[in-house]
Parts: sequence; C-alpha cells; structure tokens
Amino acid sequence: MPTPTGVSTDELRRANLRAILQTVHTRGPTTRAVLTRQLGLNRSTIGALTGELQSLGLVSEETSAVGGRSGRPSHLVVPREDNVVVAVDVGVDRIAVALVGLGGEVLDRRDRRHQRGEHDVGHVVDAVAQMVEDVLGAAGDQKVRCLGVGVAVPGAVRAVDGFVRFAPNLGWAEVPFTDLLAARLGRPVATGNDADLGALAEHVRGAAVGYTEAVYLNASVGIGGGFLMAGRPLAGARGYAGEVGHMQVDSQGPVCRCGAVGCWETKVGENVLLRLAGRLPGGGPPAVAEVIEAARAGERRAAEAVAEVADWCGVGLRGIVNLFDPEIVVLGGSLAQVWRAAEATVNEAMARSTMMPRDDVLIRAAQFGVDSPLIGAAELAFAPVLDHPQAVPTAS
Ligand SMILES: [Zn+2]
Repeated sequence: MPTPTGVSTDELRRANLRAILQTVHTRGPTTRAVLTRQLGLNRSTIGALTGELQSLGLVSEETSAVGGRSGRPSHLVVPREDNVVVAVDVGVDRIAVALVGLGGEVLDRRDRRHQRGEHDVGHVVDAVAQMVEDVLGAAGDQKVRCLGVGVAVPGAVRAVDGFVRFAPNLGWAEVPFTDLLAARLGRPVATGNDADLGALAEHVRGAAVGYTEAVYLNASVGIGGGFLMAGRPLAGARGYAGEVGHMQVDSQGPVCRCGAVGCWETKVGENVLLRLAGRLPGGGPPAVAEVIEAARAGERRAAEAVAEVADWCGVGLRGIVNLFDPEIVVLGGSLAQVWRAAEATVNEAMARSTMMPRDDVLIRAAQFGVDSPLIGAAELAFAPVLDHPQAVPTAS
C-alpha cells in the first residue's frame, strides 16, 4: 500500500539503493558513516541496504580496524569493478573502445583508425562489434559481468531508441545504428550524441562537477554542444538539442555540409584551421597542435590561421553565453587547443558585445581531453543499473 505521500516502501528502498550506488560509483569507496550522514538514515538501515548491494554483486565491503572518532571499525563500501561496461566513441577518423569498471576506472582501451571511405554503417557496426568482443575477451568473459555497451556518435541521435537521424561527418542519415549493433552483439546497446555524452562525463566526474548550468563544446571536424540546465541535460523534444555547430555566424558563407550558409563549424573546425594554415586537412589533433606550435615559433601563416579561428571561436561562444548564461563552458577537442593558444583573442571577440560580462563565465578545458564522449558513453551504459540496482542481470 502506498503511504499518504504516494511513495511505497519498495520505491523508497530503490531510491536509497540508487543513492548509495551512485555515490560510490561517482565518488569512489565511501564509509558507511558518510553514507549514513549523506542519506539521513540510521546505521542499521544503511547496513541492510549495503548488504543488499553486496548480494547483488555490485559492491564489496572492507572493514578497517582503525575507526573514526567513535573508535568503531569503519566499513568502507567499494564499487566492484568486475561489473563492467564497454564504451565506444565513433569518431570521424577513429573508433575508440574502453572497458570501464563500476566506479569509473578505465580498465582497458583500444583505438582503431578508420580506413578512408569506411564510414559505411555495416563496416562500422562490424568494426565496433569486433573491438567490443576483443576487449571483453581480453578481460575474461567469466571474470567480468558486462552490464551493457554505450556508444557516442557525432550526430543527432533520437533519445528513445538510439536511431541516428543524421551524422553528416560520417555520411549517415536515417540509420538504425543502435538496433544493428545490439543485434550483432546480442547485448544491450545505448547510443547518444557525442557532445551530450561529453557534457555528462565532465559533469559527473570532470571539469564541470558541482555546476548546474554548464555548456560543453567539442570541436573536431564539426562542433557539438552538450548543455546542462538546472542540473539536467537539455535534450529538446526528440533529443536533438544543442547542434551549435550549425548556428549561423557569417551570412557571407561558406556553404556548410548541412546545406546552410556560414555555420559556426565552417569557421572553427579542425580542418578549417589546417587549411587556413596551408596544411592538408585530416591530420586531427596532432596536426592542430603542430600548427599552434608553428604559430608560437613565429610562422606567419600559422599565426594568422590561429588568430582567425580564435576570433570565430569567440564569436560563437559569445552567442552561446548570451543565450544560456552558463556558470561554466568546458571546451574539448580543437576548441580547447585554440583557446589555450589564443585566449586573449577569444576573449576579445566575446567582449565585442557587452550583453554578458565575460568575467562571470568560467571557461575551462575538458578534463578528459578528447575522451570526454568515451567516458560519457560508459556513464550512459551504466545508467540503467545506477537507476535500478535490483534489476542488475544476475549470473545465469
Ligand atoms: Zn551547417
């Protein structure tokens, strides 16, 4: 019977299990004493709850002889990293795969560069499936419990089923990628937009921990944006919100891959910088770093390229800050590289409008560098168990 407030004992228990598991997953091993204080429950209730999480195989408890102020032995609740997920980041030039344990530790990780023209969906599904099976095989299938697979994709992903509506830089449109991969692997797969997942990673365990109004911007070939408003991801009606790469910043052009004119990513993508600096496109972050180094060493064409891209960075950032009034903007990929190299130029462009005082907004580089979407994909795969620990698949 529900209580008068509408919360049943089962629901309450599930909420408490969830709170404990989420705490040890994001903050690491935590004493029962701290959990007791944090949840406002008594010690025996916490003991029963951690006991249930133990029997579900999700945590272990370690007892240390040295107690706290009370002198009692302290029970440390530790997430069991033999509960794993496989995180995948399908980038434009490479696929990255990581085995991540409950608690967030990256236990193994592999990269594979795409061959030219290998963005064909069937190819990508095959390559990803092979890498997922390899990484699980190396861990020993009997030794770990795989809770699922999370995938980051640089495109618009329908929230309800992971259908990829479009991913222009992979050449994908209307692709049932998630269903194809799940069928191939015979495991649960969840897919999200790479920037949304980058924002999630930086919020849960990176540069944006503790902020409720945060923007994560990631540039490689294109630019993705992930937004956190009032502590919640901004998804939009169908999950496509945050396509900041396609906001118009210049009515003079050029024409973007999306069909519109003067999109932000035609001004600040990785390849834009490389072309302006007289380099061949396609070199990725190392090539961007080379241009920045050359600019620093005094090469005029490289310096002009960095300055121009930094200015357009500032123009886009100004629009985003004016629209969303974030506490913090976290930059990933080449945006972080350019911002570090030419912070003054970025700030100057932002300050050309006096709408929003620049000093009020923190700008930081992503803590996970190019791996934020990958770490976020792991969080996506952990989400169902963190939400409902009792539903964890038990050994068959
Ligand atoms: Zn566009």
